Parts: sequence; C-alpha cells; structure tokens
Amino acid sequence: MPNVHPASETLTSFLLGALPWNRTKQIVLHLLSGCDRCRDEMAPMVASILDHRWPEREPSPEEDAAYDAAISEACRRVLETLRRDKKQLPGRQVLENLTRRGREAVTLGRL
Ligand SMILES: [Zn+2]
Repeated sequence: MPNVHPASETLTSFLLGALPWNRTKQIVLHLLSGCDRCRDEMAPMVASILDHRWPEREPSPEEDAAYDAAISEACRRVLETLRRDKKQLPGRQVLENLTRRGREAVTLGRL
C-alpha cells in the first residue's frame, strides 16, 4: 500500500468517527504501519477531543466494560476485514505483520 499520509482534516474526521468505513480502514492500516508523523500530528487533536468529551468522573464498572467491549469489537472488525482482504491485496507478508501487530495492540488494550 502506498505510504501516503492522510490530510489533517481526514485525521480529524477519523478521530471523530466521521469517515466512511473504507476510508477508516485505510487510516487504521496506515497507523498500524507505525507512522510516527501521523501519530504526532494526531496527538494534540486527541488531547483536545478527550478534554471536551472525556467525563470528569471515573467511569462506572458498567461503562468501563461497555467501552472495552466496543473497542474489542472495533478491533475484531478491522482484523476480520484485514483477513478477508488478504487474498486480494499484494504484499501478503506485510499484511500478516500488520494483523499480528493489530492483535498485539488489542491484547495490550491500546489501539
Ligand atoms: Zn502518516
């Protein structure tokens, strides 16, 4: 896959969950490839979004579990799509590496 950095506006839309699934998938793949430039670019946006959206209080155990389940489900869908697309895309080894890294991210709870 070409190593093209998404535009700032695209990264912002990604963080806000406002992109179509196909574009979201491309950006997840790009970030999983370990692009420091995009991570650095997203860091202040993430801080800003969390400042405005994150509750002041600690989440309840139920909210915490719901959050974990939502993240796990999102990761599962990305990995499922990666597996499904594997045969259609070049660079099978690269994709396998991305899938493995995605699994590690899920295990560590940080995607
Ligand atoms: Zn990038």
